[in-house]
Amino acid sequence: MAASSQADTAILSVALLNQQIEAARSELALLRGQLVQLRSDIADAPGEALRAANELLARARSDAKLVEVVATEAHGRRVSFLATVAHELRNPLMPLRLAAVMLDRARTDEAAHARLQATITGQVAQMTRLIGDLLEGSRISTGNFRLERTVIDLNAVLDRAIETSQPGMDARKHRFERSPRSGPVMVLGDAVRLVQVFGNLLENASKYTLEGGAISLRVGMRGHAVVVTITDNGIGISEKALPHVFDMFVRDQHATEVNEGGLGIGLAVVRELIKAHEGSVGATSAGKSQGSEFVVMLPVAAVSRTA
Ligand code: ADP
Repeated sequence: MAASSQADTAILSVALLNQQIEAARSELALLRGQLVQLRSDIADAPGEALRAANELLARARSDAKLVEVVATEAHGRRVSFLATVAHELRNPLMPLRLAAVMLDRARTDEAAHARLQATITGQVAQMTRLIGDLLEGSRISTGNFRLERTVIDLNAVLDRAIETSQPGMDARKHRFERSPRSGPVMVLGDAVRLVQVFGNLLENASKYTLEGGAISLRVGMRGHAVVVTITDNGIGISEKALPHVFDMFVRDQHATEVNEGGLGIGLAVVRELIKAHEGSVGATSAGKSQGSEFVVMLPVAAVSRTA
């Protein structure tokens, strides 16, 4: 059965399941209508109509079974999604609690104090991004989000995104390289949302790159667009998952082995936010262990084109 074989794949999303439930429900409604019609036909031509009614009944039964299987699967995925959310939100609490205890002892030790401060900043940034993704994800799925766009320098956005991702990269001893800084690159953007976009991409690069790996961020121009390329030499993305990674709740099977936590909503949020900025985002990877590259294109603000 198509639904159960899909359910076996790691990239089946709750959204997809919901679509299948809806499709099966409307099929059932159609069959119900046909059954009502057949009932009245039975009175006129009992033999033929009875056979047709039996066939329809059998189809309706198997469709009802399908709805049940898919609904159970969707429910299971919702429950496990909530469990992952709770787990991901609880994760930073332990280091924060420890840091709070140790801060008192580190009053006289400047280096220890700075380390603790970096831990707190890093964990808070991670939580902020996660909560931001959850909020943004729900706003996007209800069509209820609005950008606050002003003319801003993309370099400042990238500075902020790097700053929030740096603790994660440092913890995994990643070599991070940024292309030499050009002059200001003005875009008409929502600074908070763009920090979230590039923070998500950098955090993913770090999450899915083994200790000691390399991550780079390059900024270039293509016509009237600025192109930001984030590359890592990490675990890569399988051919099967690559076309789906920007869909809600999608996670590559081998990514879940490297990093259990993860909600599969970060890239969906990235895609929607970039689309709302009239830009584009794409991913490439030669496959498992071959690293990944994410390319974001954003139109340069008209004001800086004429300047
Ligand atoms: P999450 O990281 O929480 O699972 P995302 O939506 O950010 O959710 O990413 C979706 C999936 O895309 C990840 O689970 C992973 O399989 C894949 N992915 C994203 N970025 C990378 C990367 N830099 N390297 C390898 N896989 C990636």
